Amino acid sequence: MRKQLLQNPVFAMAVEQFDSVAAFLNLSEDLSERCKWPKRLITVTVPIRRDDGRTEVFFGHRVQHHLTRGPVKGGLRYHPSVTLGEIAALAMWMNWKCALMDLPYGGGKGGISCDPRRMSPGELERLTRRYTMEMIPFISPETDVMAPDMGTNEQTMGWIADTYSTHAGHLVPAIVTGKPLTLQGSKGRVQATGYGVAFCACKSLEKLGVSVQGATAVLQGFGNVGSHAAATFAAHGVHVTGVSDVLGAIWNDRGLNLPQLRDHVAATGSVVGFAEAEPIDAAQLLCQPCDILAPCALDRAITGDNAAKLRCKILAEGANGPTTPEADRILDRRGDVLVIPDILCNAGGVTVSYFEWVQNLQRFQWEEQDVISKLEVILAKAMAKVGDFAQRHRLSNRMAAQALAIKTVADSKAARGMFP
Ligand code: NAD
Repeated sequence: MRKQLLQNPVFAMAVEQFDSVAAFLNLSEDLSERCKWPKRLITVTVPIRRDDGRTEVFFGHRVQHHLTRGPVKGGLRYHPSVTLGEIAALAMWMNWKCALMDLPYGGGKGGISCDPRRMSPGELERLTRRYTMEMIPFISPETDVMAPDMGTNEQTMGWIADTYSTHAGHLVPAIVTGKPLTLQGSKGRVQATGYGVAFCACKSLEKLGVSVQGATAVLQGFGNVGSHAAATFAAHGVHVTGVSDVLGAIWNDRGLNLPQLRDHVAATGSVVGFAEAEPIDAAQLLCQPCDILAPCALDRAITGDNAAKLRCKILAEGANGPTTPEADRILDRRGDVLVIPDILCNAGGVTVSYFEWVQNLQRFQWEEQDVISKLEVILAKAMAKVGDFAQRHRLSNRMAAQALAIKTVADSKAARGMFP
């Protein structure tokens, strides 16, 4: 039954990773089962009135993997491929990410199967508000705190905050993170994930003895994560030579002019057609020579088909689940690509979300510099922890990161015991 409910290639990938880590940790069967399966799987129908007067019913999900260490934390995704199984996988990875960063959270994820690019702002607002109403019995600042993910943004979080607060009768800013600054969002949140990706990648270049200044980076995805990672790379002197989005990919050997590219994307909605670059095949982009390759879009971008062809020194995983287990095995065998696993590389977002939640609970606003310097301390500590563990146990960085995280969750579960 549970297999049918969660049948999905992304969930299968998360389970395969978990099973290898549980075997490495020698977790007891009891603890392993309790850690692996999600606590709550919620699916709701979300009916909305379309602009043309029709009623359309969408399916929305929220998966709360564990509440053992605190409220669940995780994004809300609007994408046509969203399924319960995919969301369950993303919730599981969020759980390990929060544990690795030592945040007092479990992992969660939500999503609605829809195509936000084909919906008007009014339709998206009605979709978000109705989904939030359906979720009210299951969310609160103490149980489940959402944030933006693919296809959602600050505005989406603003609508959730308003719907929840209207229901409560007073403003509850801590119900979501990644919300607009005027609703007590945090300074530094909007760029935090991309900033963290670039921070981890540049630190890793230094570790390899490669100069950051003048290094090259290629990014898949130019949304929140990709565009802010690109800007941070540029600020460190890294040339971003190629980027892609859902509509295509572009390339410039000398490095793209990012401020102009941002203007082009703001005007046209895509990186495609940018005058100061050549078009390039999107699959080919991933195999271009570069120092850093940062997949910042969908899961399963690096697979058994292209892993052997990558020509990067560092694979910086901005997206969640961008590398399949088969690709991992190929990269492990190659040994010449340093992988910064997703639960570490893109953890800047949830870390600053945590700061935002703390600020909301304290009714106190931090300065951006405080946010960024606290973020850097936490990321650097996690990087060192993963690097040491990987070296000591001769593991890949992904295995090391997940082992540290899963051990933390298992220890918390063991300490709490089992009810009844
Ligand atoms: P977004 O919606 O802002 O941007 C997504 C980008 O990916 C867009 O440029 C889109 O065109 C592109 N894209 C979609 N399909 C593509 C494809 N097949 N090929 C190339 N590009 C494609 O989303 P985001 O918030 O930037 O999230 C991107 C990834 O980062 C997701 O995996 C998400 O789970 C992960 N992530 C996001 C955050 C966050 O704070 N937003 C935090 C951690 C992880």
